[in-house]
Amino acid sequence: MDQKELEAYFRSLDRSFFVDNDMKKYAGIDEPLPIGFGQTISQPSLVLEMTRLLAPEKDSRVLEIGTGSGFQTAILAKMSAEVFTVERIEQLMEKAKKRLEALNHSNISYKVGDGSKGWQEYAPYDRIMVTAAARVLPDDLLNQLAPGGRMVIPVGPSYLQKLILITKTNDGDIHIKTMGMVRFVELKGQYGWKE
Ligand code: SAM
Repeated sequence: MDQKELEAYFRSLDRSFFVDNDMKKYAGIDEPLPIGFGQTISQPSLVLEMTRLLAPEKDSRVLEIGTGSGFQTAILAKMSAEVFTVERIEQLMEKAKKRLEALNHSNISYKVGDGSKGWQEYAPYDRIMVTAAARVLPDDLLNQLAPGGRMVIPVGPSYLQKLILITKTNDGDIHIKTMGMVRFVELKGQYGWKE
């Protein structure tokens, strides 16, 4: 991944574009902000760190779980070939899609549904980014990760999670590394927390 390109695109993004009017004045603060429906746009420095860990390449097919505002999606779309993004709240997805289309990202496929099960139709994926806190490592996501692939996912109880980097070798072996502690909203659904 080209770090300079990542940083330049990250800096060029106006975060206030991704939040509602009442939150725009706080967009410059390095903190998560409410985006409605009890959800948040992630802290910008964490978006950057997680993108670095994921390390998408120009030819990568990326699955993102938890579209939210679309801020992280825009960065993934810039840094990879194709993004498949899943969000369970339809109203959030509608807004995110409008924003991403306005930014001329045409390499994104959108799905409203339970992303804890991944998106089997287009699997396998070279990269999987999960931006909500999973209760356990979802088997379906592990299965949908391509050999040689990487997945970044917060796993743990609602109040604090381990930020996990998973790598799958070309032989299909899974390596799991904890990269730090984070706090995300809950991943709901079959492999997540109860609705
Ligand atoms: N990366 C996003 C951004 O920068 O705006 C923030 C994502 S927010 C922290 C987590 C999102 O995951 C929420 O929009 C929430 O609705 C979504 N989510 C939670 N469980 C989900 C599931 N099972 N499938 C898809 N999306 C889910």
